[in-house]
Amino acid sequence: MKKYKVNDIVSLKKGHPCGENLWEIQRLGADIKLKCMGCGKNIWMKRLEFDKKIRKIKDKDGKMVAIVNYDPESN
Ligand SMILES: [Zn+2]
Repeated sequence: MKKYKVNDIVSLKKGHPCGENLWEIQRLGADIKLKCMGCGKNIWMKRLEFDKKIRKIKDKDGKMVAIVNYDPESN
């Protein structure tokens, strides 16, 4: 089961060179499109790479929680 969906806000192992490490998921597929919340730049990433790099996700209360502890069913 995938924990994330389009419009979720996530942080990754490494942030964007602009200094921000919050990304909005824009498209999901074999490749994932992310928008940097700092500068608005879009990047594409292989889903496998994304699954390795994702660290935190914003829950419905607006808190960033570790992806391993995140359960969308209880949200
Ligand atoms: Zn940026």
